[in-house]
Amino acid sequence: MKRAVVTGGAGFLGSHLCERLIEENMEVLCIDNFLTGHPDNVAHLFGKNFKLINMDVTNYVHVKGPVDFIFHFASPASPIDYLKMPIQTLKVGSLGTHKVLGLAKEKSAPLLLASTSEVYGDPLIHPQPEDYWGNVNPIGPRGVYDEAKRFAEAITMAYHRYHKLDTKIVRIFNTFGPRMRKEDGRVVPSFISQAKNNKPITVFGDGNQTRSFCYVDDLIEGIMRLMYSDYNYPVNIGNPNEMSILEFARLIISLTNSDSKIIFKELPEDDPKVRQPDISLAQKVLDWEPQTLLKEGLEKTIDYFKGT
Ligand code: UDP
Repeated sequence: MKRAVVTGGAGFLGSHLCERLIEENMEVLCIDNFLTGHPDNVAHLFGKNFKLINMDVTNYVHVKGPVDFIFHFASPASPIDYLKMPIQTLKVGSLGTHKVLGLAKEKSAPLLLASTSEVYGDPLIHPQPEDYWGNVNPIGPRGVYDEAKRFAEAITMAYHRYHKLDTKIVRIFNTFGPRMRKEDGRVVPSFISQAKNNKPITVFGDGNQTRSFCYVDDLIEGIMRLMYSDYNYPVNIGNPNEMSILEFARLIISLTNSDSKIIFKELPEDDPKVRQPDISLAQKVLDWEPQTLLKEGLEKTIDYFKGT
């Protein structure tokens, strides 16, 4: 039986990944310090070949025995989380990535780094291909996340080139689905929970900024294909279906049959104006593209929030 380590395994994406690895008949060691993750997200995996380990990967990572795959997903990922926890965000992207790469080296295991479309910052090229270097404000409030992930990519490529580690980098675009935290401040859980409670929908700025939303199952499929591939450079995984935040607010109101009105709030500093993945590389090297329609994915997510 193959063994996989998932850091941040009790978070939104990490928990879906753990579930998928169990389905693939692996033993899963899920590492989390529960800063933004929660054991509830993986409670259904207990009793399978699954271990939950409370460990802060910025201090050390130690795992006994052989390891076949490492997925480094530990990090706050919502803007309000990383604004509240700027130092932890910087530490997990830098020190944490260094420790996890050390583990990969010790175990001679391939490592996949969860990176982000945020490495492109407020992009001047649209849609964003992997060879765009980005437009990031290093000292702005979002810089703590963006620069941590840019450093994480840099050190991962250094381990690949210098130590010949088999590393992969996925640049994750806006992803949504069950197990996002209702209060995590991101647009999908915020709008759904506001609409469900007939509270005003808070659109930031004029709502003309765009995002492209990918359903979590599609993302996980792309991640598995990347891990199993022999491609060592960053790959965008996301859904190119771009829309404005105002359009998205209207869609959520209609899917939830809500009476909510839209209100406008101040746009957060450095909020990217546009974001859309160019997925031609993923299509070419992974034969991957998203399969889930936005409406279908949102309905599953709305159902999940009904039970919360
Ligand atoms: N947003 C919004 N209202 C909210 C939460 C977010 O209008 O209650 C906007 C936010 O300003 C951004 C977009 O929705 O333009 C996506 O925000 P999110 O925090 O989900 O992630 P980001 O893509 O900015 O990392």
